[in-house]
Amino acid sequence: MWRRVASVSHLFSHSKSTKFNQGASTFKIWETFTSESEIPTPSKGSPFVTFVLGGPGSGKGTQCAKIVEAFGFTHVSAGDLLRREIASGSAYGSVILSTIREGKIVPSQVTVELIQKEMESSDNYKFLIDGFPRSEENRKAFEQTIGAEPDVVLFFDCPEQEMVKRVLNRNQGRVDDNIDTIKKRLEIFDELNWPVINYYSQRGKLHKINAVGTVDEIFEKVRPIFAPLSK
Ligand code: UDP
Ligand code: MG
Repeated sequence: MWRRVASVSHLFSHSKSTKFNQGASTFKIWETFTSESEIPTPSKGSPFVTFVLGGPGSGKGTQCAKIVEAFGFTHVSAGDLLRREIASGSAYGSVILSTIREGKIVPSQVTVELIQKEMESSDNYKFLIDGFPRSEENRKAFEQTIGAEPDVVLFFDCPEQEMVKRVLNRNQGRVDDNIDTIKKRLEIFDELNWPVINYYSQRGKLHKINAVGTVDEIFEKVRPIFAPLSK
């Protein structure tokens, strides 16, 4: 079992919103640096972390289920952990709910603590962290608290129109799967996601996947990335 001791105090106390003004130029840099990289060899002594990024409806959760089945990862969905926290009647539930309704990002300390607990209570050492980090602030909070960087970063690249269509069709009863909240989620995604993508691209960890196609077609693009793990 993988364990690390870290304290997360003063939840919500540092919920600053970070502004990024890198827009189009970030995108150019990212395109230049995006490369297919070899993945590191996992070892049972330390966690092997894959971040799964992409906009709302880009297929992160669906592909995570396939990766779990094929390669034995534990799926940690940040959004699901937050929804579970709301459902449990936690003290932070109402703040999390209103944040999700507005399509905004829950303070990093809260999300990182939930992810950390989930990782620590697992017997597995291979983790898919789905839908996180959504901002540079999220990313830094994870790296500081967990004391580790991801080994692999997947980015499901999907046109906005397709994402909107999928979210409106998925019918899971989520409070944020309505057109008004989707627009806000896409705006936040566009504003805060690119610096994270750019960061991991420059570190040679990013695997960009074209997320248009059937579930199986897309998984056939994901499979080779993890193929070394099945040996
Ligand atoms: N969310 C968050 N931090 C996270 C993950 C999710 O604040 O690390 C919130 C955010 O409001 C987001 C919502 O939870 O819009 C749903 O996230 P999820 O990843 O479940 O859905 P997606 O947007 O990928 O469809
Ligand atoms: Mg999801």
